[in-house]
Amino acid sequence: MLKFAPVKIITDEHCAGYSSPRHPECPQRILGTLELLRNQAGLPVDWAAPGRVNDEQILRAHSAALLARLNEPQDFDADTPFYENIGEYARASAAAALDALKAARAGENVFSLMRPPGHHATRDEAMGFCYLNNIAIAVLEAATTGAKRVAVYDFDVHHGNGTEAILLDQPGVAVFSIHQYPCYPGTGATNAGKNCFNYPVQPFTPRETYRAALARALDDLRKFRPDLVAVSAGFDAYLHDPLVQGVLELEDFHWLGESLRALGVPMFSVLEGGYSGELPKLILAYLKGVEGK
Ligand SMILES: [Zn+2]
Repeated sequence: MLKFAPVKIITDEHCAGYSSPRHPECPQRILGTLELLRNQAGLPVDWAAPGRVNDEQILRAHSAALLARLNEPQDFDADTPFYENIGEYARASAAAALDALKAARAGENVFSLMRPPGHHATRDEAMGFCYLNNIAIAVLEAATTGAKRVAVYDFDVHHGNGTEAILLDQPGVAVFSIHQYPCYPGTGATNAGKNCFNYPVQPFTPRETYRAALARALDDLRKFRPDLVAVSAGFDAYLHDPLVQGVLELEDFHWLGESLRALGVPMFSVLEGGYSGELPKLILAYLKGVEGK
């Protein structure tokens, strides 16, 4: 076994191939992160490109109607434009989440650095910059292929409404989401079903209070005794994020990575939101935490 195993990054520059003017979910999020990760020496990286996802895997989480809808050239909502080939971009992002699951099971530290994000996509609807729910697709794949207890930890500043809706009362799965509330998409004020636990934090809450909510959710996750942890890693609770009144600082994302590592359970992370120009640094800090650096 390698003494210093590199972190595996699953990514593909092709995911920068769609954009619309002034949209915060932009190619530079990935391109800037690639540039930083390629030009640093502190964190060894093992690069991998995503494979493929099949319809059967997608249809555990989504309706056939949504899959068909991705090919219709019409915007989904004001935030979620139709792009040429968006279905293929969404599939590549879901495929990367599945590969991240595979790598976690093989004992690797792994991060899916792809767009579009996924946690707002519901069974039937693309919304909130999301087209397919990458994390839910990967969790349902895990549950179908032997995982007995899978926990989702979602630290994106927005409630993962799609993940909650898809995984609600799914046996052997628990979802822990820490988010600002009230905020987009307007859900996540209270727990849902038997297995979706929400930790809403008021806007303009002091940083320590936000950190305490993140820690409380981790404690509850630990009590669930997962054999696998799937992380929806959104970096938009950051102080300088342009979309939300975030309060977290760079070192908080390092702490998140460290704390998740300390669970000692196979784990994979997929990129959700994060729209500040400092996203690359936040991701690097998180990954260093995950790697115990
Ligand atoms: Zn978000």
